[in-house]
Amino acid sequence: MAYATTNPYTGEVVATFPTATSEQVEVAITRADHAYGSWRSTTAEHRGDILQRAADLLRGDHARYAGILTLEMGKLIGEAEAEVELSARILEYYARHGADALRPRFLHAEGFGDTDVALVNDPMGVIFTVEPWNFPYYQVVRVGAPLLMAGNTMLLKHASNVPQSALAMEGLLEEAGAPEGVLTNVFTSHQASEQVLSDPRVRGVALTGSEGAGASIAALAAQNLKKSTLELGGADAYIVLEDAEVEKAAQWAVFGRHWNAGQVCCSAKRLIVLDSVYDHFLEDYRRGVQALVAGDPMDPATTLAPLSSAEAVDILRVQVAHARDEGATVEEIGAAVPDHGAFFRPTLVTDIPLDSDTASTEFFGPVSQLYRAADEEDAVRIANASPFGLGGSVFSRDIARAQRLARRLDTGMVYINQPTGVKADIPFGGTKRSGYGRELIDLGLMEFVNQKVVVVADIDGSF
Ligand code: NAP
Repeated sequence: MAYATTNPYTGEVVATFPTATSEQVEVAITRADHAYGSWRSTTAEHRGDILQRAADLLRGDHARYAGILTLEMGKLIGEAEAEVELSARILEYYARHGADALRPRFLHAEGFGDTDVALVNDPMGVIFTVEPWNFPYYQVVRVGAPLLMAGNTMLLKHASNVPQSALAMEGLLEEAGAPEGVLTNVFTSHQASEQVLSDPRVRGVALTGSEGAGASIAALAAQNLKKSTLELGGADAYIVLEDAEVEKAAQWAVFGRHWNAGQVCCSAKRLIVLDSVYDHFLEDYRRGVQALVAGDPMDPATTLAPLSSAEAVDILRVQVAHARDEGATVEEIGAAVPDHGAFFRPTLVTDIPLDSDTASTEFFGPVSQLYRAADEEDAVRIANASPFGLGGSVFSRDIARAQRLARRLDTGMVYINQPTGVKADIPFGGTKRSGYGRELIDLGLMEFVNQKVVVVADIDGSF
């Protein structure tokens, strides 16, 4: 593993960055800890002002920021622009609401006055954050804005294929006026996680990525008695009931499965369609996928981006071959894709045995699993058979029915009549093998604070 920018559309290695030595990791922790010393004692309002300035800077220079994303991981330039704006909105959310959410809460404890028992939210220290390449800014901001708002500092280990995005995030905070080191990027090896997490100055870790990385980091955190949060993979169920607007459901499914070239943790990966509307849905879905245009992600006319790397294409090929070996029906349904660059032709997988590896696999690219459900009960059974529990969707004209069904899905998020969303002001997170903890709004803010109780007692009172 080496840190490098490789353009997924051309295959060209644009820049490389050396992996940090253990001395450099030590310097990075010291830098982040030193910054914590001053950052923790600033007011929440001041920290909010810095986050607002960061949002303004992102918006002011959106084309440059978006260009880095497309260069490094190949997403469509329009999607890169949307990611820049989403990141600005998250920063702005905490700038507007963070200080209020951090105010002390007074508890009504028996025998105490109204303001005698306060629950205050203190920062914890340096928090290690390990982030993936699929949304190189959004992931950093989603975890970072609440951490920083609360007065912590952030030691960032970004994915090895997006080093310039990592540096852009570090530079953004500095330009916004944060003291040096508030966000410290470090190009660490996997092995260095042990050094980081055993350091007493590092007080917790948040990881977004695969199950394997999550298990490894969470084990290290546990050994060192540190708090961890994990945002892991997903295989969202996308349920289409017989009373849904089928054309709309199919259109949204094409988007939900193919935006970011299918590399979204909460993509609509398992389409579960009731028998009576299955054929109609499939016809519309095929037509929609067929219309996608693969090409240069910098060209606004392109609607299907390359994958993030040639290795990602290889992994998907192996997974699809295994699905075929397990007896599933595999069919390429998208138009042909360019023969250079990290493209993968959109593929449909049907007739998937529920006890197969395929049914439990997360395909991180434009591969759609399609299931035919006999009825609503069957759809819930298929949906909950997954080891993952990130998001999910229900399509129905009957909102009350869809809301009831949503409560039966074993996931952290359900969107009705839309694919699972990524919004600045709606929390994000999953259950089961999709991880634990929540990001965004006040839930994200409370993950890495010391909720300290401060009690004023009457010395002459009873104990
Ligand atoms: P990945 O291999 O787990 O990489 C994610 C991050 O973890 C990268 O920074 C990676 O560094 C690092 N990493 C991996 N193994 C590590 C280890 N043993 N010790 C320390 N760091 C380690 O994930 P990916 O396959 O690139 O990304 C896609 C996965 O992330 C999918 O499963 C996707 O669903 C999930 N994801 C989840 C969410 C969510 O919010 N739930 C969001 C996006 C993605 P290197 O690059 O240096 O290997």
